[in-house]
Order: sequence, then C-alpha cells, then structure tokens
Amino acid sequence: MQAANNAIPFSREKLMNQSEKIFNHICPICNCTYTEPFFKTNTFIQKCINCGMVFDTKEALDQRYYKDRQHKIKADTLRARTRNIKQRLKLLKKYLHGSSLLDIGCGEGTFLKEVQSYITYAKGIEPDFYYANSAQILGLDVIQGFVEDIKFPPNSFDIVTMFHVLEHFQDPSGVLKKIYLWLKPGGLLVIEVPNIASPYAKYKGEGWELITPEHKFYFSHCSLNYLLKKYSFDILDMKTRDFDQYRIAIGKNLRKLGINFGKPKPQKPKKPEAIRELSNDYQSADGKMVPLKRIRRTIQLPLKAFLGWLVLKFNRGDHLFVIARKSEK
Ligand SMILES: [Zn+2]
Repeated sequence: MQAANNAIPFSREKLMNQSEKIFNHICPICNCTYTEPFFKTNTFIQKCINCGMVFDTKEALDQRYYKDRQHKIKADTLRARTRNIKQRLKLLKKYLHGSSLLDIGCGEGTFLKEVQSYITYAKGIEPDFYYANSAQILGLDVIQGFVEDIKFPPNSFDIVTMFHVLEHFQDPSGVLKKIYLWLKPGGLLVIEVPNIASPYAKYKGEGWELITPEHKFYFSHCSLNYLLKKYSFDILDMKTRDFDQYRIAIGKNLRKLGINFGKPKPQKPKKPEAIRELSNDYQSADGKMVPLKRIRRTIQLPLKAFLGWLVLKFNRGDHLFVIARKSEK
C-alpha cells in the first residue's frame, strides 16, 4: 500500500514514554471527582467511587503506535485466533442471519472472513496499515483508519462488533455514541474486553498480563453495565469468556476459580528453546528416550478441559463478552 510505504519511523519505547503525562483524576465516564488508587503501589490507575470504572490516568498512546506496528502474524497465533473466533461465533450465531455487520479493530480480518458465511455484508475498520492491508488482500472490505475519524450515515448496520478494542480508547463514551447512531433500531453491539474483576486478575494484581500502557480502561461487569446503560443500550447477555480456556495451564485455571497457592511469583526468564526441548520432551533415568511431553499432554488435557469448563460455568473468565441492543424506537 502507498501509505504503508510512507510509514512514519517510530520507536515503541518512545511512544510508550509519551504516555507518562498524568491527567487529573476525574472519572472520564461519570465525571465524579472521587477516585482512589486501584493498586496499593501505583497511583496511575484509579477507580471511580461512583461508577466503579478503573482507568489509567496517563495520556493515551500516540496514534502512530496503532498505525505502524508492522505486526507479523505467526502461524500458531493465527491458529489460536481462529479457534478463539469460532468460539465467539458460536455465541453469536443466533443473532447473525441476513445482517450487515461492522467489525471495529478487525485486525487481519480473521473474524470478518469467518462471519461472511452467516451474513449479507461485513465491513471492517483497522488502524494498523499492515493488518488492514492483509485483510484487503484477502478481498475483505476494510477501511484503514481510526473509528474516531470515520463517518457512516445513521442506521447503517445491524451489528457492530468490537473485540478487545473499547479498553484502548481515550474516550470510549464518544465511540459508543457514534456506534449508537450507526446501528439500526434494534441493532446489536457486541463487545469483548478484559475483566478486571476476574479472580485471576485479582490474584495477579499489577502483574496481570492485561495491565498494559495500551489499555486506558479496565472494565468489570458493573462498570461496563453502567457505561452501556448510560448510552441507552439494553444488555441482552453478559458472560465471561477465555481464550483457549481448555488449553490454559491447570494452576492458572484453578486460580481463575479462586483457588490460590500463595502470592504470585515474579516471572522467571524463559530458557532458550533448544534447552527447553531437551529437558521437557525426552527424558528417562535409564537412558531410554521417553516422549514425556506427549504423555504429560495426554494426561493433562482432559483435566484442563474440565477446569476450563468450570471457569466458564462459574463465570470466572478473564474476558467479558457482552451483547447489547439499541432500542427499537
Ligand atoms: Zn465514574
């Protein structure tokens, strides 16, 4: 693409540092001035006493960060994404027939590609040049740009989806107002965001992998409910979900259920690939080579699947999945 060739050179670290400017602690959702630090050791992340929203008070990342990341998608990442998207589709299927859909932050277009067979017309918006270009090469209708700058006539879509996007905006309220206009009466908004109130997020605290400078907002069941109702969406369904829940480690699944073994430990640096392969794959006391990794996997998989199922059954997942509707009027 022309634009991709003219990409502005940037450094991730430099753009991350730009976000150090601290804003005041007024809740951006309900304008309440009563907030408190969400973590004991970090005052950047505040929680609103009124609406319960948890938000990062630092300035949002520069837009160039989202434009020029030059993501290269690895094959196994893409496989995991496809599995994940199939799970989402399972939850959405009954709402999809004969509809027009807009996917905001569509990435490389995996969801758009999969959803095409269920609906009449699917469109995507993606700020990242590389992702948008990859999707366009696949023949998908994707606009490269930021949702804040894009215009559609009112009542354009039956469904708008945003998977792991809402938490990145500096002004999620403004985006929700736009989506409300774009949706037809009775149209659906489908959102997935990290769940700051999940037992695993609580266990990990500041070390939770989803606490990152890229995220401005951290939603819980309560605060997302507040935000959607404020913009006149009726919530049809709100549940928790996990990526590849059946494959997540046994200990991690237990922690998601609230069963903890002491405090979180700092992460150890990973061993080089070759050493890991040797120590994990083939080992035996009498010198015979036994495929330990394969045996372990065979034993652990049903247990992981069962625990993964329990996490979802008891609504303990790390991601909130919401289907909301614009009123019919
Ligand atoms: Zn608030």
